[in-house]
Amino acid sequence: MNIASDINQDEIDILRTLIQEIPDPIGLYVGREMRIRVANKAIHKTWGKTETVVGKTFREALPELDDQSFYKLLDDVYTTGITYEAKQQRIDLLIDGEFKIHYFDFTYKPLKHTDGTVWGILNTAKDLTDVVLAQQRADEADARRQFTLEAAGIGNWDLNIVTNEVWWDDRCKELYGFNKDYNVPYDEVLRYMHPLDRPRVDEAVMASLDPSSGGVYDIRFRTIGADDNQLRWLHCKGRAYFDSENKPFRFSGIAQDITEQILADEKARSAEQLTQLAAEAAGAGTFFIDFINNETIYSPTLSKILSGVERSGQKRGDLLKFIHPDDVDKRKVAFDEALITGKLNYEVRFKWADGSVHWIKTLGSYVFDPEGKPVVLMGTSQDITAEVEAREEQKRLLWLMENSNDFISLSTHDGHVTYVNKTGLELMGFNNLEEAQRHNSEYLLPDEIEKLRVEINPLLLNDGRWEGNITYKHFITGEAIPGHGMSLLLREPVSGELLGRASLFRDLRPDIAARKALSDSEQLFRGITQASPTALWMSDENAMITYVNQIWVDWTGYPLESHLGEGWLNAVLKEDIEQAATKFLADYNDRKYHESQFRIRHTDGTTRWIVCTGNPQFTEAGDFFGYIGACVDITEQKQLQNQKDEFIGIASHELKTPVTSIKAYAQVLEAMFRKSGDERKANMIVKMNNQIDRLTSLIGDLLDVTKIQSGRLQFNDTLFDFNQLIQDMVEDLQRTTDKHQIITELKPIGEVYADKDRIGQVLTNLVTNAIKYSPDADKIIVQAEVIDNEVMVCVQDFGIGISHDKKDKVFEQFYRVSGDKQHTFPGLGLGLYISSEIIKREGGRIWVNSVQGKGSTFCFSLPIKK
Ligand code: ADP
Repeated sequence: MNIASDINQDEIDILRTLIQEIPDPIGLYVGREMRIRVANKAIHKTWGKTETVVGKTFREALPELDDQSFYKLLDDVYTTGITYEAKQQRIDLLIDGEFKIHYFDFTYKPLKHTDGTVWGILNTAKDLTDVVLAQQRADEADARRQFTLEAAGIGNWDLNIVTNEVWWDDRCKELYGFNKDYNVPYDEVLRYMHPLDRPRVDEAVMASLDPSSGGVYDIRFRTIGADDNQLRWLHCKGRAYFDSENKPFRFSGIAQDITEQILADEKARSAEQLTQLAAEAAGAGTFFIDFINNETIYSPTLSKILSGVERSGQKRGDLLKFIHPDDVDKRKVAFDEALITGKLNYEVRFKWADGSVHWIKTLGSYVFDPEGKPVVLMGTSQDITAEVEAREEQKRLLWLMENSNDFISLSTHDGHVTYVNKTGLELMGFNNLEEAQRHNSEYLLPDEIEKLRVEINPLLLNDGRWEGNITYKHFITGEAIPGHGMSLLLREPVSGELLGRASLFRDLRPDIAARKALSDSEQLFRGITQASPTALWMSDENAMITYVNQIWVDWTGYPLESHLGEGWLNAVLKEDIEQAATKFLADYNDRKYHESQFRIRHTDGTTRWIVCTGNPQFTEAGDFFGYIGACVDITEQKQLQNQKDEFIGIASHELKTPVTSIKAYAQVLEAMFRKSGDERKANMIVKMNNQIDRLTSLIGDLLDVTKIQSGRLQFNDTLFDFNQLIQDMVEDLQRTTDKHQIITELKPIGEVYADKDRIGQVLTNLVTNAIKYSPDADKIIVQAEVIDNEVMVCVQDFGIGISHDKKDKVFEQFYRVSGDKQHTFPGLGLGLYISSEIIKREGGRIWVNSVQGKGSTFCFSLPIKK
C-alpha cells in the first residue's frame, strides 16, 4: 500500500514542494535497508550532501556516521516499531570534507502498514547547534565565576521568583550552617536568619523587588547555623531582574562572611567605648553612629555641648540644626575627608537657642568593612570656645608684637634674648632670629652695661618693671642707638615661677633728629622773615591770618595780634577793603595762586600801593592747610604807571583833535583836486588820508587803554542782528586788501544783546591782524555759530602763527611777538588787549589756537543775553 494512495498526483506534487521548502530537516527512509526516498533542502544542507543521495541507502549516503549510533537506532525503530526521540543529540557531520559538531532534537518515527508492520521511517529534526553552543559558553562562564567566588569564599545564590526555587552553591549553604547535600527550601533560609535582623532583611528584599528601586540589594545580617548553631555575620549583595512588564522573575547575588571583620570592629568598639567613657568624664560629649542599623546614639553631655540642653537621643539631626550656618560646609568637608582617612577632626561653631556661639571640636574614628564601607563612627565633641578665644587673643598679640613699630624682645630671666620682632631685627642689623639670640648685654653700648648691672636688673627684680633711656649698639656698624626702653618681668600667673622678661625699645633718633631739624628750621625761618624787606604772611585753612612778620607790623604800625584772623583788613584803605577781601576769598575757595593789589595806610601817614601774593599749601597727603605769601610795596612803580597812563591819556586826547581837523582838510583837498582834474594830486591826498586813518585808529586804541585803566570804558548794549554785523564788517575790511579773500561761513544766529560798535571793533581787530600777519596767504575764514547758548566767532588765517609759549601773552597790554628780520609788522601791541577787555566786560571769553608757520585762529564767545 502506498502512503499517497488516496490523494491525487497534483496534491502530491504540492506536498513534495512544501516538504522541500520546510526550514527544518525532513527525511523519509524506506525498507529495512533505509533507502532514502525523501530528503528536503534543509536535511541536504545539514548533511552537506546534494540531491544525489535520494535513492541511496542511509549507509551509502552517510558513510561518515558509521562509528556513531544512528544505523543501529534506525534499525531498532524499524524492528521495534517504537518512535525514537533525541534531545540535543550531538552529531558529527562531514561537511565540505570536515567534521562539524551539530546538536539536534530529532525524531525517528516508524511508518506502519495497517497490519502494524513498519515500512519506513520519518526523520524530522531541529538544528539546535547555535543554541547549545551558546548555552555551553554561558555554562562555562558560570562555572568559572562560581569557581572564582568559591575560591574567594563568596557564596552564590539564585532565586527563581516564578517557581520560588532557590539555587544555592555549597558556600552559601555553609554560611547558613547547612549540609552541602541538603537541598534548601526558601523558608529554611528564612528560618535560620537572626530573628532581630529578619524584618530588616524582609524589608530590603521587598524593596529590591520593587522595580522603582532599580533592583539593588545590599544588606548585612546575622545567621544562626542550622546544624552548628554558630552565629555568622553575612554581607549579601545582589539584584532583581525584571521582565518587560516590570515583574521580577529572578533574584540573585552573592553572600560573604564578614563575621571576623565585625568581631574585630566590636573589639575596637569596646576599646573606643572605654575611651568615650573617659571622654565623657573629661567633659566631652560622645556619639556613636551605627551605619549598619543606621542609628545614632549620643550622650546627654553631647546634647548639652551642642545645643545647651541636656538630653539623650537617637537622632543626631536634632543637634545638627544648631550648627552655625557659616560652618555647615566646613563640617561637610571634614566628614568627606574622614571617609578617606578614617579619622574625623574638625572645629566648628554651634549657635545655641539662647544665641550664644560655641566653638566645638569633634574627634572621631571610623570602622570600615573590607570593601571600605563605613560600619561604625565613634567620636567625641568638646566645647573649646575658651581655648579658641585664647588662641585668637594670642594670635592677635603675636601679630601686634611682630608688626609693632617699636622694638620688642623676649629673653630668659637671666637676660638671654630668645625673640626679637621685625622692627628689632632691622634696627639692630640682624639678618635673622638666630643672630639675635644672644645675651642682652651684647645689645648695649659698652658704657651702658654698667647701667644694666647696677640699675636695670636690680629694679626689675624688685619691682618687676624698669623704664628709662638707654643706648643700644648697632650689631654691624656699632652706631649708637639712643632710645627709650621698658622691661617687664614675666611670671607664671599661678605658680609665680619666673618665665623671663619682655622688653620694649623705641628708637629716639628720628625724634631727636626731627626736633633738631624743627628748631633749626624755625630759627632759619625767623631769621629770614624778620630780615626780609617784604612782608610775609600765613593763614589757616579758613582764610584766617595766623602770622605776619615784623615788616608788616612796621608798615602798619599795629601790633602783630591785631592783624590775625581778619584783622589785617583794618590796615587796608576803606575803598579797597571790599575788593581785597573778595579777591582773597575767591582765590582761597579755588585754592589757587593769589595775587591782589590794594592800598594801605602807612604808619608814616602816606598811602601805599601793595601787591600781595600767596601760594596754597598742602600736606603730603594732599590736604589743604592754608596759604603762605608775601606783600611788596609797589607805590613807586604804581606812581610811574599812573604818570604814564596820564600822559598817554592827555597825549592821545591832545592828538585826536588836530588829527580830526587834518582829516577834514584832506577830504576837502581831495575833492578840490578831483574837481580841477588833477588826479595825481588827488591820489596823493588819498594816500595821506589812509595814513591819517591809521593814526586815528592808533589814537583810538591809546584812548581806549586809558579808559580801560581808569574804568571809564563805556558800553552801550542793544539788540542787533549778529550775522548782519559780521557781513557789514567783512565788506568794509575786504576793501582794505586786494591780496586776501575773506570767506564767511555763518550759521543762523539771530539777534544778540551787546555793544554793537565794540563787538565790531573786536572783529575789525581780529580780521586786521589776520590780514597783517599772513602776508603770503590768500584767504581768511570768518566763522560764526551758536553753541550751548553762546555765540562763537572764529577768525582763521594761514599766516606766520604764534609759538605755543607766546600764545596767551598776546592778550597783554603792549605785548608784541618780536618778529624775525623778514617780517616786521607795524603796531603798538594794544589791539588784542583792548579786544580781550571788551569781550571780558561783555561776559565772554577770547582765545587763540595757533601753529607757528601755519596760521592762527582767534576765537571769542559771547553769552546770548535776553
Ligand atoms: P599789534 O598787532 O598792534 O602788534 P595786537 O594786540 O593786535 O597788537 O597783537 C599783539 C601781538 O600778537 C602782535 O604783535 C602779533 O605778534 C601777535 N598777533 C596778533 N594777531 C596775530 C595773528 N593773526 N597771527 C600771528 N600773530 C598775531
